[in-house]
Amino acid sequence: MPRSQSRTRPSSSGSTHTSSESIPAVTSLLREWEDLPAVDHHCHPLLRLTPKLTSIDLRRPFTEAIDDNVIREHTQHSMAYRRALRILATELGCDPAEESVLRSRAGIDPADYANRLLKKSRTGLMILDHGYSGGEAMSPEEHSATIETPQLHVVRLETAAEGLVASCNSVADWVDAARSMLRDAVDGGAVGVKTIAAYRASLQLGEPDPSRAAADFTTLRARAVAGQTVRLEGEPLCHTLLLAAAEECSRLGVLLQVHCGLGDPDEDLALANPLGLRRLFVEQRFANLKVILLHCYPFHREAAYLSSVFPNVYMDLSLAIHLAGQDGARALQEALGLCPTSKLLYATDASRLAEVYLVAAVLYREALADALGRLVDSDWLTRAEAVEAGRQVLSGNAKRVHQLAAP
Ligand SMILES: [Zn+2]
Repeated sequence: MPRSQSRTRPSSSGSTHTSSESIPAVTSLLREWEDLPAVDHHCHPLLRLTPKLTSIDLRRPFTEAIDDNVIREHTQHSMAYRRALRILATELGCDPAEESVLRSRAGIDPADYANRLLKKSRTGLMILDHGYSGGEAMSPEEHSATIETPQLHVVRLETAAEGLVASCNSVADWVDAARSMLRDAVDGGAVGVKTIAAYRASLQLGEPDPSRAAADFTTLRARAVAGQTVRLEGEPLCHTLLLAAAEECSRLGVLLQVHCGLGDPDEDLALANPLGLRRLFVEQRFANLKVILLHCYPFHREAAYLSSVFPNVYMDLSLAIHLAGQDGARALQEALGLCPTSKLLYATDASRLAEVYLVAAVLYREALADALGRLVDSDWLTRAEAVEAGRQVLSGNAKRVHQLAAP
């Protein structure tokens, strides 16, 4: 139960109280949105379904740690995982011990269970990044056949561009091939492009050095031709690709999703601050580009600033909400300091297990109701304005920026 559900401070917005105003704002807001399906504008596919999970399997998606020692020794002591177990235990009707949750879920048909949790999460539409599996993920075909929730997808830029290296002779060829790949993907139904430049280089976008890009490409292509793993990294190539993709997104009218902030330790968090993306917001060639900053935490204030001053910049908080404990809800409150409610999009960044979708959805709605409820209680918003703001965040903003029909 959100802390503010026990608040008794009356609304200062006036003395006329309807029955819905006599209960705490946070509770009444949650009820208002109860039947509203959310657009999860950034999430990932589930793993191939299995009835039996180990404790490590269940812990893994509730941390950004990739070191098994952390997951074995510490993740079970994180606030994120303690709360997740409580939410899952309520759903399963068992006690919130890890063994009980694992035992209870093992007795249910995995496809029924996954769809039940997705339905409970009130996700009306999943916009999926299939490029990150984090294990044995379902293919797009398997996913849409197994999971009943409607689905759209984005292209994962760097992963897709790695597949083009072997067949290109130069950086210019490769960039042309990447542009063409993006056009084909959007023709084929992709609604956006996701970049993980934060993992492979940095978000400090300068002017890439062409001679260094050429040298890096020669090395990468030699690996590709020799059949070795191709991992695109370094600023010269990653930023060359990102700038070209941003132009292409602008031309195609699809969103560019940029991973910012919180991620696994494969990224250097110090280099993942969205303020470094300024070129994308001020240069004329990107004038029509819509950018959505993903995750953002702990740079959510920076993202909120960018969203408040540049017309085509949007943000989410996604995995911060279910990974950062109560700090996730505080981040949402802080983001709403500068970020207009028309610029914040609901997302979970859930992956692997249906459990994550449910936990993330419960916590997101609580955090949103808590943040907007506080604003009602302190007379910054009327209750009606808060209800509408929540609708924007949960669904309306994503539909508007992606030009989607109702899910
Ligand atoms: Zn993601």
